[in-house]
Amino acid sequence: RAKGDGRGCWRFFEPAMDADLRLQREFEFRLREALPRQEFEIHYQPIVDLGTYRPCTVEALVRWRHPELGLIPPDKFIPVAEETGLIIPLGEWILDAACHTGATWPDHVRLAVNLSAIQFRSGNLVDAVRGALARSGLPAARLELEITESVLLQKDHGTLAVLHELAGLGVHIVLDDFGTGYSSLSYLQLFPFSKIKIDKSFVADLSSRTDCAAIVSTVTNLAKALDMGTTAEGVETWEQVTLLRAVGCREAQGWLFGRPVPAVALCFEAAPFRAEAAA
Ligand code: C2E
Ligand code: MG
Ligand code: MG
Ligand code: MG
Repeated sequence: RAKGDGRGCWRFFEPAMDADLRLQREFEFRLREALPRQEFEIHYQPIVDLGTYRPCTVEALVRWRHPELGLIPPDKFIPVAEETGLIIPLGEWILDAACHTGATWPDHVRLAVNLSAIQFRSGNLVDAVRGALARSGLPAARLELEITESVLLQKDHGTLAVLHELAGLGVHIVLDDFGTGYSSLSYLQLFPFSKIKIDKSFVADLSSRTDCAAIVSTVTNLAKALDMGTTAEGVETWEQVTLLRAVGCREAQGWLFGRPVPAVALCFEAAPFRAEAAA
């Protein structure tokens, strides 16, 4: 950071940079300890069927309960876990814990788990998924694995072969955050995803910007033509729901339907809370 500020700044910024580095090291150290100390928690957020307004899938989202800093969101520590390799044991723990919880849910509810690109390079991902299913008793057809384009960027690591092996287990592969990053349409040809999750950045301005509505509509139609479904992320208003239903998007996830919560707070049996919208 200080480099671009010219030579005179070095002396001034050096102690601050040392402190930054110390904090970074400390953070990495604490993160490594967090797994044996059982400081990770999984919260669960429903994905709602826009035909019935009932949860069809529930996404597992990891958090770190830091003893001093409180609940830390995944964007703050997953990148560090990826850099340090911790994502491999952490990812396996998440698969195991989430599958155990998911196996207790009603048969029609699926579990969605996010995978990091690093896990695809471990050489152990297929075994980890197979093991988590076997140990928990969760049927493969009730597991959705969410990947982002970053996974597909590493074409040289046999990624495609791993994806096909995973699909061979009977799990569903879902493309997350579609529309951000490279969003090459060739990815959609490369692999038969079950679903595409439309990134929340397009959903946020759905009612105020016609270009966002056009993108959501086009991606939904494209997905349908390729025999894939779509899930809209970040749905916060009923106005968005009306627009999503109008363009044929079948599933939605967002604070309107529920924030990520601990497993005990999930409720599957409640009647649709807006029956008139379901009609
Ligand atoms: P994601 O997989 O795209 O997850 C959706 C994110 O959107 C979640 O953030 C969720 O809390 C947030 N969200 C849901 N509804 C709304 C809404 O209505 N409005 C807004 N503004 N946000 C909403 P979260 O839990 O902080 O997770 C962030 C990202 O961290 C995830 O994005 C995923 O890429 C990654 N992540 C989370 N859990 C895991 C995990 O177990 N393993 C890996 N590898 N990555 C994970
Ligand atoms: Mg996700
Ligand atoms: Mg997403
Ligand atoms: Mg995301």
